[in-house]
Amino acid sequence: MVSLEQLIALDRQHVWHPYSAMPNPLPVFPVRSAKGVRIELEDGRSLIDGISSWWTCIHGYNHPRLNQAAQRQMKKMSHVMFGGLTHRPAVELAQKLIEITPEPLQHVFFSDSGSVAVEVAMKMAVQYWHNRGKPDKNRFLTIRSGYHGDTFAAMSACDPVNGMHHLFSGLLTQQYFADAPQIRFEEDWQEADISSFETLLEEKGDRIAAAIFEPVVQNAGGVRFYHPEYVRRASDLCQQHDVLLILDEIATGFGRSGKLFACEYANICPDIMCVGKALSGGFMSLAATLTTTHLSEAFAAGEAGVFMHGPTFMGNPLACAVALENLNLLESYDWQAKVAEIESQLKKELEPCRSLEAVKDVRVLGAIAAVELHQPVDMAVVQPQFVEQGVWLRPFGRLLYSMPPYIIQPAELRAITSAIYQVAASVQG
Ligand SMILES: *Cc1c(COP(=O)(O)O)cnc(C)c1O
Repeated sequence: MVSLEQLIALDRQHVWHPYSAMPNPLPVFPVRSAKGVRIELEDGRSLIDGISSWWTCIHGYNHPRLNQAAQRQMKKMSHVMFGGLTHRPAVELAQKLIEITPEPLQHVFFSDSGSVAVEVAMKMAVQYWHNRGKPDKNRFLTIRSGYHGDTFAAMSACDPVNGMHHLFSGLLTQQYFADAPQIRFEEDWQEADISSFETLLEEKGDRIAAAIFEPVVQNAGGVRFYHPEYVRRASDLCQQHDVLLILDEIATGFGRSGKLFACEYANICPDIMCVGKALSGGFMSLAATLTTTHLSEAFAAGEAGVFMHGPTFMGNPLACAVALENLNLLESYDWQAKVAEIESQLKKELEPCRSLEAVKDVRVLGAIAAVELHQPVDMAVVQPQFVEQGVWLRPFGRLLYSMPPYIIQPAELRAITSAIYQVAASVQG
């Protein structure tokens, strides 16, 4: 067995990490195990996880019910192909997803990751219009500050500046970008906020297959909470201009924003919805693209006669069995009350950050909090600072943010908010 020093050296030498350079100049922290809200490091330190491993493990790590669901399923089979075969875990999970999402969504396409769920959604929209005899409707309308994943089609809909589109110019399809919404979640709605979105639909609607955006909460593009009326108006406008609506609920889905799905704030239903991240409770990679019958009906009559997509590990039984248990778990307690408690504690305890010189803004919605600084943080400094304080947070750009597991206790959340305050206080303004 390699020593801890060797492990770190080998990692540095050979293993790419997300958005990292090679060899990795930033510290990485070897993990031995994780349980509940805690991540146990190899060096014996224990961290309270304030971001649920990128917003996935809503019920904490190593949950006995999720473990049991996986073990039960493993005794039967961990995988079989989905072409020509089916199984209970996938069908029962599909049924559950249809039950908990808005009623018009009736069909589920499983995939392995959020980015792929977005690719599938975009491909479906393009093929839909092809089937309907309008092959020129193959572009997308999206809003700035969005994030939809790292694959090429998903990336084309990410914020062009954050996503560094110029690096891939010529390869990335040019989409249409409306201004990012400015009216905040709690402010009074103003119709001007939707005008750039509306103008693009009026001018380019015959080229646009679908609008795609994250409803109410823009996550990795900046942790911004915007007015639900924007979503409602955008949905109406898409209908008026014969453009499909894809909502990316990969980050917001399963209660994170305070509603089970953020589109519920606007009381609308998209033609296509993407879910991922918290779907399996952070246990393993799984995502899904849901569609209405109106959309899916267009496929049988089209040129291909089928939807042209089929991942090798589609509908993986192990992932589906765990995800089903995770959704049953979510239904088994008052998660809404829990998220509301987290929200009010985050609001109360992060409010003092507002008076710090380095802090530009503090915002909280559901179990999501962001403290925005004036300057980008230095990860080489800030990441170890959080670890020293016994918490795991992963800032990006100018944002210190938290999306804790729903099972977090008040004292543990207090450790998160106080670490954020300490770090924000230590940054130069
Ligand atoms: C994380 C995320 C994705 C991409 O999901 P991956 O599983 O990382 O491919 C897409 N959309 C949103 C809104 C996300 O937060």
